[in-house]
Amino acid sequence: MTVVPLVFFSLFASTAGLGDVKKIGILGGRIIVYYIITTAIAITIGISLANIVKPGTGVHLKELPKIGDILGKVRETNPSIVKTIVNMVPTNPVKALAEGNMLQIIFFAILLAIAILAVKKEYRDIVIKGSQGLSDAMINLVNIVMKTAPYGVFALAAGVVAKQGIKIISNLLVYALVVIAGLAIHLTVLLVFSLLLLGRKSPGNFLKKAWGVMVFAFSTSSSNATLPLTMETAEEKFGVPKYVSSFVLPLGATINMDGTALYQGVAAVFIAQVFSIPLTLADQLKIVLTATLASIGTAGVPGVGIVMLTMVLTSVHIPVEGIALILGVDRFLDMLRTIVNVSGDLIASIVMTRFEKDKKAGDGT
Ligand code: ASP
Repeated sequence: MTVVPLVFFSLFASTAGLGDVKKIGILGGRIIVYYIITTAIAITIGISLANIVKPGTGVHLKELPKIGDILGKVRETNPSIVKTIVNMVPTNPVKALAEGNMLQIIFFAILLAIAILAVKKEYRDIVIKGSQGLSDAMINLVNIVMKTAPYGVFALAAGVVAKQGIKIISNLLVYALVVIAGLAIHLTVLLVFSLLLLGRKSPGNFLKKAWGVMVFAFSTSSSNATLPLTMETAEEKFGVPKYVSSFVLPLGATINMDGTALYQGVAAVFIAQVFSIPLTLADQLKIVLTATLASIGTAGVPGVGIVMLTMVLTSVHIPVEGIALILGVDRFLDMLRTIVNVSGDLIASIVMTRFEKDKKAGDGT
């Protein structure tokens, strides 16, 4: 109920909100490329770990929900990568919305956002503000639904364990450990490659100064709620100029979710393993693509990452019912992935500051 309108409105509003990207010039292009590359690296780490550890194998589900249908569908509709890219363009956007075809919805939302920027200001502002309002309303709706989550999680988890046996708990534990290990590896990659090599700053010093931000991200599970503290820390403790922090960090809190993307990669592979659905290389590349887009569309508030996971699962025909398996451990993993999301933004602002300084030195200004 919430996924399609949430993705559409939030992506449209945040892309159209970048209206002044031209003013920011080269920084805008650089940061978007940087965010996309680091996100893709995060998912690749997640998927690789899940393939090596295989947390979902050996579950032997007792009740396989329409597994024959699913496998048949996978074989039938497993299009090539070229076809996937061509299929991203909807012939009818309303049909794409009605059928929940996420890649097409994302493609249309971004294109419409670019187009709206060329419309007369008085019309443009109404549309962008209206979409922002609807996007906020969808987030409120998710929050209302989430109020029932503890009871739902209890019932689902009890049902799963009663049906599948206690063994499923050890699989879940391994799954959670794979996510945690992946997050730790990705944070290390960011600290070494981005911060040390690109930003020329010491990782130890970063951890000391950014500790407060990380604790805040962990306890709120929200990149958005942490944003004011992230901005203050970037400016005061890391000397990031205001024009960089006020552009890079809000954008990061909206579209850069390395931790979420990594977790979505692990979760997709885990659920596929539980349902014994083989994933081809093309499927895994599709997961990288959709999880990158899903994490861009994920709002920086608690629990949205798992809602967006449905989009990754449907793109490779993994049954979304599998989410019931992992919902029980999601809150804790959400807290941890938010740390990586926010740290990724903060590190990006430091790296961009260094690039800006080099640019100015090169200009002789
Ligand atoms: N809680 C995450 C964040 O705000 C998003 C998610 O993965 O649910 O960054």
